[in-house]
Amino acid sequence: MTLTIPFDNSYARLPNSFYARQAPVPVRAPRLIAFNADLAKILKVAPGDVEEMAETFAGNTLPEGAEPIAQLYSGHQFGNYNPQLGDGRAVLLGETVGADGIRRDIQLKGSGPTPFSRQGDGRAWLGPVLREYVVSEAMHALAIPTTRALAAVETGEIVLREGPMPGAVLTRVAQSHLRVGTFQVFAARGQLDSLQRLTDYAIQRHYPDADGPMGLLRGVVDAQSRLIAAWMSVGFIHGVMNTDNCSIAGETIDYGPCAFMDSYHPNTVYSSIDRMGRYAYSNQPDIAVWNVAQFATALIQQMDNKEAAVEEATEIVHAMPGKMQENWLRRFRAKIGLATEEEGDLELISDLLTRMAQNQSDFTNTFYALAGDSARDQFTDPAAFDDWSDGWRARLGREQDPTAVMTAANPAFIPRNHRVEQMIQAAVQGDYEPFHRLNTVLSRPYEDQSDAVDLTRPPTDSEIVHATFCGT
Ligand code: AMP
Ligand code: MG
Repeated sequence: MTLTIPFDNSYARLPNSFYARQAPVPVRAPRLIAFNADLAKILKVAPGDVEEMAETFAGNTLPEGAEPIAQLYSGHQFGNYNPQLGDGRAVLLGETVGADGIRRDIQLKGSGPTPFSRQGDGRAWLGPVLREYVVSEAMHALAIPTTRALAAVETGEIVLREGPMPGAVLTRVAQSHLRVGTFQVFAARGQLDSLQRLTDYAIQRHYPDADGPMGLLRGVVDAQSRLIAAWMSVGFIHGVMNTDNCSIAGETIDYGPCAFMDSYHPNTVYSSIDRMGRYAYSNQPDIAVWNVAQFATALIQQMDNKEAAVEEATEIVHAMPGKMQENWLRRFRAKIGLATEEEGDLELISDLLTRMAQNQSDFTNTFYALAGDSARDQFTDPAAFDDWSDGWRARLGREQDPTAVMTAANPAFIPRNHRVEQMIQAAVQGDYEPFHRLNTVLSRPYEDQSDAVDLTRPPTDSEIVHATFCGT
């Protein structure tokens, strides 16, 4: 068996100023942790033997057809513009066109320094690599657009973080790594030819029906509106919604200090670096609009008639909160069993959420329990639920099959933060059983898995993870 990846690269055909040619830097003793055979099939990647895959996915050997590059981008980090970021610890090996006709990037993350590394070592440690593997694959199983994980390897090297940690490399797969920040860097530098070239490339790759830059903007507004509503519907908090982590393809990208909420509260923040709560759960829709506004600002630089462009872009961006709200309402209607629309549905949903926040209700378990008869147990004061449920049941009386609607909309299994942390701690000790188990269970999030009820349990007081770290 020889690992073969049918590369068909397009980004490496773009001008030199879009990237730096950069091979991954070899590591001492690669060992394969995981290879995602299901994803490999979609990519038309033929697996090789274990040693060969370890060497390749660690970056020690370049597969045939790879043209490794580190991509240039910039971005707003926590609202402040950083004029140059770029792949500081990742290289794009190339692209494949999958069995489904979709072009995807194959990128090594944690593959060593690049010209964009600034002060960083270009490496990743095992914890964030496994976190991204588990959480991104769980997102995919929840049918939420996301980058995916093709492989994870240990490097046999130590990286220094809070202390010495085992190094690792993740093979990330994305519909592309184009970010808002990829456009910002050319706009900010006044490199309008590059900006136009990038715009054409993005349209061709992701929004072939879009008519020019404003068409592209519309496409991204729609994709991000759907994405953020999907996050909200499963209690996902991204944690670092900087413009360099905002994908033009509308995928969830860059799993850093992300987390799924346990008990519901709109102000929930996990990220240890988000002291102001900029990226709190309930701020995510507003931040997405802000990010897309930065995208619009960048796109406009290439327009001949700036005044008209500003007017059109403003209108498009101003329509985004409404679109997000529409997506949000559709998803939350389904979560409480509503397939039809009535006035008053929004109030019904909001009232439930308010009561959940006041009663430390577990987000996932409360919605999951709505299809049964134990939802009231999720409230510190069960009467708060009973009060709400009278009106809800009356509303359900006008629905065909609310149970089926709820079952399809409310997962039983999400990657709970404390389980992810426990999994990482075990892996650091050499025990990968929890990692593999999480992947298996989370691949079927809507199914009753009676042997995995422990993974539906919220954290005990001592298990609660109060802060998540970028840990990069
Ligand atoms: P992130 O917060 O993961 O979106 O990364 C922000 C920027 O920091 C990107 O340009 C990364 O490439 C860079 N970066 C993060 N970690 C490292 C690292 N260990 N070495 C070099 N660059 C890094
Ligand atoms: Mg990033």
